[in-house]
Order: sequence, then C-alpha cells, then structure tokens
Amino acid sequence: MLERQPRNKTDFQPLDWRRSDRDDIMARIAAAGLIGMGGAGFPVVAKLRSGIQYAASTIIANGVECEPGVNADRALLRHYLPDVLEGLRIAGACLAKPALILAVSDQSIYQAFVDKGELGITCRLVADAPSNGEERTLIGSLFSDEIPTTRYPSQCGYIVFNVATLFAICEAVRDGSRPRDRLVTLFGEETWVELDTKLGDIGQTGATLRLGSTATGRMASNDDVVSLTTNAVEHGIDDQQRACIHCGWCDAVCPRHLPVEAMLRQIQSATRPITLSSEVNACFECGACVVQCPSAIPLLDLLRSAKREVENERRKQVADLRFQQHTVRAAETIKQESITRSTRIETRRQW
Ligand code: SF4
Ligand code: SF4
Repeated sequence: MLERQPRNKTDFQPLDWRRSDRDDIMARIAAAGLIGMGGAGFPVVAKLRSGIQYAASTIIANGVECEPGVNADRALLRHYLPDVLEGLRIAGACLAKPALILAVSDQSIYQAFVDKGELGITCRLVADAPSNGEERTLIGSLFSDEIPTTRYPSQCGYIVFNVATLFAICEAVRDGSRPRDRLVTLFGEETWVELDTKLGDIGQTGATLRLGSTATGRMASNDDVVSLTTNAVEHGIDDQQRACIHCGWCDAVCPRHLPVEAMLRQIQSATRPITLSSEVNACFECGACVVQCPSAIPLLDLLRSAKREVENERRKQVADLRFQQHTVRAAETIKQESITRSTRIETRRQW
C-alpha cells in the first residue's frame, strides 16, 4: 500500500448512501467541493445534474491513463480499486440505473477486476494509445459513438468521471471526508501529496517545473501548489529545446489530424493574426505531438498561448464590430435628430 498520512477526523457524518436519496448524496458531494480530478476541474455535481437532465444512461470510470510517464491513476486502481468502484456505484445512485463501466488500458488491472468479479459493473480494456483517455475519444473507442465538439458527453447520454474523482466521491460520501490529498506522479514516483503543498516545499525542485506531465503539463514555479487536478509534477523540457527539423512526426501522430508543424510555423512567425485559428482551437491538448517531437519543442505551451491569442483576437473583432455598429447607430440618431429639428424650424417658419 502507498504511504498516506492518516486522517484523524472526518468533516461530515458518514452517509449510508444505499439508503439515502439522490438529493442527500448530491448535497454531500457539493459540500465536499468535489471537482473532476482528471484535469478539467468541472464541478462533479454540475456534471451529475446534467446527466439527470439529459437522462444519461452510462457512467464511465475513466482509468485510461495516456500521458507518458504518469501512473497516478494506475496506482490508485491497483491499491484502491474497491473504493473507486464504490465511488462509481455512488455516482450511479444519482442517476436512473445507468450502466456502470470501468475503462482501463492496463492489462493487469483489467485482470484484477475480472478475477474479483464485480456485480453490476463492466470492465473494458482500451488500447494504451496517446489521447485514448480523452473523454470523447474514450466514448468513441468504447461505443463507436461520436460526440460533437459542440455538445457535452452528458448531453449525449454519457457521464465520464476520472477514477481519482470517483475515489474522492467515495471518501466524501461513505467516510464523510473532504479531499485533503491526492495521488500524484511526483518526479516519476507515485506519491500521496497534501493539497495546497507548494512545489518549492516538495523537496526536489529545479529551474524548470511542470504541473502535469512533461507532455501536457504547464510551466510552474516553486510557488505553484498541488491542487485536485494535479496528476503529476515533472521537470520541464525547455532546457533541451532545439529548432524544428521538419520531420513531420507531430502531424503523423496527432489524433485530430491537425497540421501541427504548419501551426508551429505560424505561431513562431511574426505574421498576425493567426489564420489557422480553427485548427488551433481544435487541439484538445493530448500532448501526443510533444512526446513525439525529436527537437523537444514545447508544442503544447505554444499551442495554448496561441489559443489565448486567437481568443483575444476574436474578442477584439467582436468589440470592433460592436463599436462600428454603435458608431453607425449614433450617427443615424444624430442625423434623425437634425432632420427632426430642421423640420420643426421649417414648420414654425411657415406659421
Ligand atoms: S496538436 Fe493538440 S491534439 Fe494534436 S497531437 Fe498535439 S496536443 Fe494532441
Ligand atoms: S515533430 Fe518537432 S521537429 Fe518534427 S516537424 Fe514537428 S515540431 Fe518540427
């Protein structure tokens, strides 16, 4: 078992969720402040409410960990599988008898599930490939169902929770404990880390740190803290960065078939605005291109800043358009007032 600081007190009364109604379970999840721990940080209760509203019929426990070098979810499943499955059942109790599915990419975890045999939960083995853990891609692999980017999976009948989120649901509801720590891949080793711990206090610090994996994380400083969505803390890759050698590997590996090299060229050139804006926005930040790049170019950092640039440009265009429309309306009003005034003067003159 991984070493974890014992908890001496609980935050709430433990809840016998099998005898509780849905509202009590959801109130507990809300009180514990649970958010998705797979990265997006979407409030758990909002996701469940959306599932209720759209009559979602399937809940998927996402244990498909596809970021190279990150094993926090695998370690959680190896050591705490019954708690994760109980969290899945608790989430299921909030909906109308949904199908409960545990999706994993690790053969040994799949085998452990099969050997134990869990009533009412199906385990599915998914290929261990970059991006297969992304919600929409996962639903596509499991059900050959394509979720449009304009809709949430819950609006199409699926709720996806990361396994760490389900573990936190279990502890909040069954044990009455708010999350105080989480399992993190810390410089390559799976470790329980207290939330809000500063990276500078963890011990092994360097000039470049990343919150998240080397591929998909973001640059961080010693003052950044471990949060519910932190699955890894790694050293940065920027020291070794070299120039693009135009090998095209990033294009070949991108699951969205995006022209990554062309986007990079545009981002690095001085020409603005970025014309490949819809391609930049279509990137779902899986990090596959970063892993593949032989020049260790921090493609994801560049794509994220390009996304911000594209969004700023869009807002600027909306503001410009509003200003132009306002100017036209104001000129029209002045013209109308002037006509009205002239008409009045003319009418008085005729009297
Ligand atoms: S461009 Fe985006 S979606 Fe494509 S591989 Fe890179 S990170 Fe993944
Ligand atoms: S993988 Fe890296 S070096 Fe190769 S084309 Fe893409 S950005 Fe350039």
